[in-house]
Amino acid sequence: MKIMSINAGSSSLKFSLFEMDTEEVLISGLFERIGIEGSMYTIKYQGNKIKEEVELKDHGDAVKILLDKLISLKVISSLEEINGIGHRVVHGGANYTKSVMVTSKVAEDILKLSDLAPLHNPAHYLGIKAFQEVLPKTPMVVVFDTAFHQTMEKENYLYALPYEWYTKYGVRKYGFHGTSHRYITKKISEELGRNDLRIISCHLGNGGSVTAIKDGKCVNTSMGFTPLAGIVMGTRCGDVDSSIIPYVMEKEGKSAGEILDDFNKKSGLLGISMTSSDSRDIEDGMHEGNEQCILAEEMYVRSIVKYIAQYYVELGGVDVICFTAGIGEKSVETRQLIIEKLAVLGIKLDLEANKVRGEFAKISAKDSSCLVYVVPTNEELMIAMDTMELINR
Ligand code: AMP
Repeated sequence: MKIMSINAGSSSLKFSLFEMDTEEVLISGLFERIGIEGSMYTIKYQGNKIKEEVELKDHGDAVKILLDKLISLKVISSLEEINGIGHRVVHGGANYTKSVMVTSKVAEDILKLSDLAPLHNPAHYLGIKAFQEVLPKTPMVVVFDTAFHQTMEKENYLYALPYEWYTKYGVRKYGFHGTSHRYITKKISEELGRNDLRIISCHLGNGGSVTAIKDGKCVNTSMGFTPLAGIVMGTRCGDVDSSIIPYVMEKEGKSAGEILDDFNKKSGLLGISMTSSDSRDIEDGMHEGNEQCILAEEMYVRSIVKYIAQYYVELGGVDVICFTAGIGEKSVETRQLIIEKLAVLGIKLDLEANKVRGEFAKISAKDSSCLVYVVPTNEELMIAMDTMELINR
């Protein structure tokens, strides 16, 4: 069975075609600058890479070229070989608690939820429509980033704000990276052969979130109403006192939107290091004795430790801590700094085992009070798996 996993952004379209029997990626790629001058695509297949500048007026153009390429590169011989398409959707609101088949109501609901994810949901809608136009008979599924977190209790997802803001406008914690946290939960449950686990999943990429999971269900998560909340990130600030907004608006003569833009794009590791949002540059800076980089890394690590400690208590102890995404999978140093600060809970690393980058590995010491794993995430595969399951049902 062949399933295509799609992530449509406002000016981009990322795809992977999976052979589900082997979970092998047959072809993958990215269309960029859709609707903007200088549009192009990159495609990877069988060890080859193609990069070409082409005019892409809209998502429909990207989809047409993508499907033509699948045939001309002989990845498939006819479009009927694509058994299903899974679309990543950032926001499913409170009602979409799992992946669903695309119907006209589901597509309309995704568009309606644009209020909560203005940069993402309209683009996902365009992606779905573009594929429906060319492949009207191919079953399609949507996989929401928020869905996994909808098992949180009200006490955990509400903010202590006027209650009508929740009932009237949906102001609450939704959580994000759910597809990744769910994949990590699945992988670690398979590895240990049981589902009754207390897991703390640390998705540490350019964006980052920490999630507490009990018996396969999300109990709490660090991101909130938007992906701005929680831990320090590459360019996002994470949790801050919201009174800073009017204060700096007045000082700098900026609008609320401009301040939020600074919170999203000029803060986090970048804001503090004043150098880079990339943890590799921060680590290089630390080794050269750059004080801002040392400070940025320490704040980053402490913000993660704070959530792990909170969730340790909320879960009543922990069986497994997992690290995933760019930094979680590849930064040996960050993982070590985090776990060192958890020594009071008896959590210890095997420093040799921790020297792993981007591979599934157990990295806890034999006498650690809980297991610690590096688990490479694969949101595209999770989307394809959900699609296959729903189609087969
Ligand atoms: P992601 O958002 O999951 O793609 O993660 C991207 C981030 O991973 C980058 O911004 C880097 O900060 C980080 N990263 C990638 N490779 C490494 C590495 N070898 N060591 C440390 N951090 C890395």
